[in-house]
Amino acid sequence: MNNRLYGNLIFELSKEGRKGYSLPKNNYGKSFEELPEQLKRGKAAELPECDELTVVRHYTNLSHNNFGVNDGFYPLGSCTMKYNPVINEEIAAMNAFASLHPLQPVETCQHALEIYYQLQSMLSELTGLSEFTLNPCAGAHGELTGLMVIRAYHNSRGDEKRTKVIIPDSAHGTNPASAAVCGLEVVEVKSLDDGTVDVEDLKTKLGDDVACMMMTNPNTLGIFEHAIPEITRLVHDCGALMYYDGANLNPMLGACRPGDMGFDVMHINLHKTFSTPHGGGGPGSGPVGVVEKLKPYLPTPRVVNCGDYFEVVTGDHEKSLGSIGAFFGNFGVMIKALVYILSLGRENVKMVGPLATLNATYIKERLKDDYLLPIEGLTKHEFVFDGLKDKSTEVTTMDVAKRLLDYGYHAPTIYFPLLFHESLMIEPTENESKETIDGFIDVMKKIAEEARTQPELVKTAPHTTPIGRVDDVLAAKHPITTYRQMINDLA
Ligand SMILES: *Cc1c(COP(=O)(O)O)cnc(C)c1O
Repeated sequence: MNNRLYGNLIFELSKEGRKGYSLPKNNYGKSFEELPEQLKRGKAAELPECDELTVVRHYTNLSHNNFGVNDGFYPLGSCTMKYNPVINEEIAAMNAFASLHPLQPVETCQHALEIYYQLQSMLSELTGLSEFTLNPCAGAHGELTGLMVIRAYHNSRGDEKRTKVIIPDSAHGTNPASAAVCGLEVVEVKSLDDGTVDVEDLKTKLGDDVACMMMTNPNTLGIFEHAIPEITRLVHDCGALMYYDGANLNPMLGACRPGDMGFDVMHINLHKTFSTPHGGGGPGSGPVGVVEKLKPYLPTPRVVNCGDYFEVVTGDHEKSLGSIGAFFGNFGVMIKALVYILSLGRENVKMVGPLATLNATYIKERLKDDYLLPIEGLTKHEFVFDGLKDKSTEVTTMDVAKRLLDYGYHAPTIYFPLLFHESLMIEPTENESKETIDGFIDVMKKIAEEARTQPELVKTAPHTTPIGRVDDVLAAKHPITTYRQMINDLA
């Protein structure tokens, strides 16, 4: 516990009477500390007492134990951890945006409404869908909103028996969860050996009780679903709609558009593709786009363009779902997304998908002699290995992931998707330089070599991090969340 980096708890650094602040005298000549008796608390709060320098060092050292895109390569599959340009943060933090109030009169925030409207329109252009709402605050929130739109559409046509949602077995876990939250029943459709949807299996699941099919394309394995025109035709022919999970839009930008593939509803994670850091539950945004016929069902408030003026429509407007959250959603995230799109510009936005695909494919081709590629063939922005190719060693995907930490890389996504036993899912994104990617490839090859020659070294990794391997089960079942609990546990 006394290692400098891992450090003490701030409570252990506390020394009675030490202070990191001093308050000015107020206008009446008395210190703020001389509060009237009746305003003072009966018992002093149990807070650590530290000088400013101790506090600064404490938090600076803690931050060194963190790892983010700004520290190093973070090839996390299915979750696009990519660099978020700092200028986007600076613009979002400008006073003209940061001090807005969601209830201020519309004539005083026309600039904000214009940003909202512009982003809506740009997302429409990028995806080929008619209209977007930016109100949902996360990907899963967008899924729920999109499914509610689909439900409202069927119900408004008196087609109330459509309660089933078809979802491929390779889907992201939020898809079935959102369907369940929306009160719909999940029906799973199988994947073929090549990782794409089994169309014959799909045909047996279709009927007049199906509300929609949810899909991602390229799918969770990074494989493009070539049968998509046939799939959308079959689903539409049975009266159901197509939902696109666009949480990770990186492979799509510049390549193709969900609207053109026949999807009716989609969500986008601005906090994956469009320049907001994600992870740790920070503010997100999950805009939902729909085709023309579904437009009336979108939630409110909506921003409407009245020529040279922007209006806000609120309340249960005709067929609208009404409010699905607080006000307009997370506005700061929207500003960053708009700045990101505008600063790339029309031509460069189109490079995102091809570059992300090039980087991923390069890694895959260079590592496939050392790591097992379970499905040969073209992949897009990400791909999945099934552990080491040499199955004679005891070294698992978990061991490889832990050893990567010793070399200063964040681990890829592991043990997802569930289609393989030793999944190792790599997504480098479009931003990384050839040098960074080559460095990662060298290390991955070195780990494969270590697995052959000194497996114990890999199996006991990490060796350089403040904490080695945690007991996942114990940490989940018996988390230590307070200082007092830790002291009691140690006693
Ligand atoms: C991240 C992700 C989601 C969920 O997004 P949240 O903002 O975490 O709710 C849904 N689908 C896919 C494919 C994702 O990668």
